[in-house]
Parts: sequence; structure tokens; C-alpha cells
Amino acid sequence: MKKLLGILGIGLLVMLSIVLVKTFTNSPGAHQKSAALEAIPASAIAHMTQAIQIQTETPNDAYQFDTATFLAYRKFVENAYPLIHKNLPRTIVDSFNYIYEWKGTDTSLLPMVLMAHYDVVPVEASAVKLWHAVPYGGEVKEGYIWGRGVLDDKSSMISILEAAEAQLAKGFQPKQTILLCFGADEESSGNGATAVVKYFKSLNKRFDIVVDEGGEISTEDMKDVKRPIASIGVGEKGYVTLILTAQKAGGHSSIPGKTTVIDILSKGLYHLRENQMPAKIIPPIKAYLERVSGYTDNFWKKMMLSNMWLFEKQVINNLSEAPSTNALVRTTIVPTIVNSGVRDNVIPTFATAYVNSRILPGETQQDVYNYVEKAINDTNIKITYYHNYSTLPSPTTDINSKAFKRVEQVINAIVDDVIVAPMLMVGATDSRNYRDISDGVINFTPITNAKGYHGIDERLLISDFQKSINYYTLLIQGSK
Ligand SMILES: [Zn+2]
Repeated sequence: MKKLLGILGIGLLVMLSIVLVKTFTNSPGAHQKSAALEAIPASAIAHMTQAIQIQTETPNDAYQFDTATFLAYRKFVENAYPLIHKNLPRTIVDSFNYIYEWKGTDTSLLPMVLMAHYDVVPVEASAVKLWHAVPYGGEVKEGYIWGRGVLDDKSSMISILEAAEAQLAKGFQPKQTILLCFGADEESSGNGATAVVKYFKSLNKRFDIVVDEGGEISTEDMKDVKRPIASIGVGEKGYVTLILTAQKAGGHSSIPGKTTVIDILSKGLYHLRENQMPAKIIPPIKAYLERVSGYTDNFWKKMMLSNMWLFEKQVINNLSEAPSTNALVRTTIVPTIVNSGVRDNVIPTFATAYVNSRILPGETQQDVYNYVEKAINDTNIKITYYHNYSTLPSPTTDINSKAFKRVEQVINAIVDDVIVAPMLMVGATDSRNYRDISDGVINFTPITNAKGYHGIDERLLISDFQKSINYYTLLIQGSK
């Protein structure tokens, strides 16, 4: 017995030593200063304002599409960027999606794609009075450019165009061909990007780097980390919606039976919400935690993140607590629409619920279906797929790929002391279509702590606009 206790004691001591050594040797990287940023071209802010003023809203109903506005936007781009339109041949796909081709000197190299979308979500009429600027005014005040679409995603498009126009003016020629791709319906169907990729597939094109919106810089994500974190999106979650239907003869509400369809469905939804799908740490999230772990001021957190071999379960529990991090470690399932009943004195015969799921890479729509069936465990509830829209999780871009490394290098060149880390995208972007024809899809724009996406007071720091133009300039120059 004594011997056993002795062995156990030694084992514990060894473990403790490993934990402490790993914690204390995990120190932050040296401070690093970025290069001075190039000034914003004088015309860039005026172009950004003009871009906001043209109200390229995507309607839910394709028949409401405002062709005149999208044509006006095309005219504006043609006038604002004469060198691009003189030197880079443009292909128009499905009316309003544009591909500009900047031919490289070495056509044996795979091209790079810089992409953005210029459609915007509508401004809610009832919310206009809450704005501190005219939503489509393109006002410049308090160090920001204000307006619908300035973050999502017109600043990316304008930054790409500004960078390309300036490089053309200097006579720059890339070594690898660069394609500038701009979409007109990312906020609705995303059909434009699908059509563009179909077009590229018909030409057997493949790309080594595709850069789209997505990840950003944050100084707020982790309060205990005092350096900015640039999260590069390297993959996207999947999407599926299931319809749950309970059916049972209804009747007069004065003589109710023991259970009604509403009771059955409510109970099913309750079980579903009580039993989340199991959590796990997928490779990009693991890499993110590893890269950030050395910089935290919180000793316990640092100890756990430096010793995932021992504390993985605890880390998962901690991540599961906040909605934003919970979404990174598991497939989420949540009811979004519930329907039943026609009158207050009638017990209904049907009750339906739509449950929306965002699927973690490595899992499928069928896994979600099976899980929902098991969690509800009630044959009175029929489960079917909602066929409106569904997509599998994307493959993830390797952090050792040329694409990731190139973007990482550029971010280091424009942001002081930045921690660059991979991240999983919980929403969908146009670039997911490109994953079939590129292993180097990257979602990142160098905007810091951005606020106002799809909501009120959407605005962009002018200094972020400057970073953004510099970011695309360096990406373009790096293709030499
Ligand atoms: Zn967007």
C-alpha cells in the first residue's frame, strides 16, 4: 500500500512539474513594430462616400432587384478607377458580378483572388431615427465614415480597387495573375458567387490564395490578453434547418385531453435545448488557443491553455459558457419558428417548429438529424429537412499553407504587436464556393472591433480604412 502511494505521489509530482514548466515557458512573443502605413490616397474617402450613397440593397424577393441602382454603381466604379478599366479586362457574370483579370508575368503560377461584395442589407425604416448619421449619407465625422455597407463589405471592395489603381499608376505588374472578384448578392442568395465559381470551373481554374471578408482584429475578445488578436477565418460551419411536426386530433378547448400537439412539441423542444450536441476542439480552434495562450495575464487560464493534454475538458466547459465561444466548439441547434393554433378556443391538430443548426467541420446534416431524433425521443414528432437552403461545413485552410502565411505576414506588417491566429467562421460568406477550386481560402479584413454590422450606426474608422488599403496593397505587391 505504501509503495502504491509512493508511486502515485511521484506520478503526481511529475505531472505537476510538466504543467508548471509548460505554463512558465509559454511566454509572449517579443514586441514587434509594423512598418509605417502609406497615407490614404486623397480620393479614397470621396470614393467610399460615393459607394455608400448608391443604395445597393439586395431584396429578399429577386423580382424587386433594382437594376438601375446596380447599373449606377457600375458606372461609379468605372469612372472612379480609370486605370483598372483601361488595363484589366472585365468579365461580367450573371449581370452584376465582376471579374477583373490582372495578368501576371508568370502564367505558370496559380492566380490569387481578392474578393468582396457590394450589395448591402436594407436599413430598417423604423430604426432610421436611432442612427447618428444618415444611413446612406456616407458622412465623414468623428474619425469614422458612416453608412450602410461601409463595413459589410464596400470598404473591402473600395480598398481593393484603390490599391490596384495606385499600383497600376506606378506601373506595377504582378508575377502571379490577380483576379479581382466582386459580387452583388452575398446578403441574399449568394447565387452570384456560385455562378462565378461555375464559370471558373468551366475554365479549369484553380487558385492558391482567395481572400474574402470574414475574420477581423479584436482587442475585446479576451480581456486578459493585452495585444490585438487578428482572427483569420480558415473554414465555415455548415447549415441545415429541420422541421419538427406534431400531429394529433384537436378539438374544443372546453374539454381538453391529457396532451395536445403544443404540449408534445414543447416537450420535444425542451429536451432538444437541454441536450446540446457534444463539444470538441477542432484543429483551427486548438491552434487559436495555442497561439493566444502565451499572452494571457490570467495564470489559471494560461496554465490550462498551455496544458491542453490535461485540461481539454475544462477548457471546453469554459468555452461552452458564452454563446460566441460555444458556437466554436459544437454544432448548435436552436428553434427559430414555431407555428400552431388558429383560434383561442380551438385545440390545434398540428404544431410545427423550425430548428436551425450550424454544423461544426467533421459533422454532417445527417448527424444533426440523428441527434435531434435521439434528443426528442418521441415518435409523435415527425422530423423532416427544410429544403430551402443547406450546406455542409467547409474544409479548413491549413495554417502552414502559402495562403495563410502570406496573409499572416501582411497583417504583421500593418499592425503592431498583433497575435495572428486561425478562426472558424460561424456565418457564411461568398468565398465558401471557392473551396472547391482552392485550398487557400482566407477570410480576413483588418478592421478592429467593428460595430454596426447589419444594424444601426454601421461605421468604419478612417484608420482602419487606411489599414485595409495597405493590406490589399501588400497582398498585391507580394504577388511579385
Ligand atoms: Zn458581407
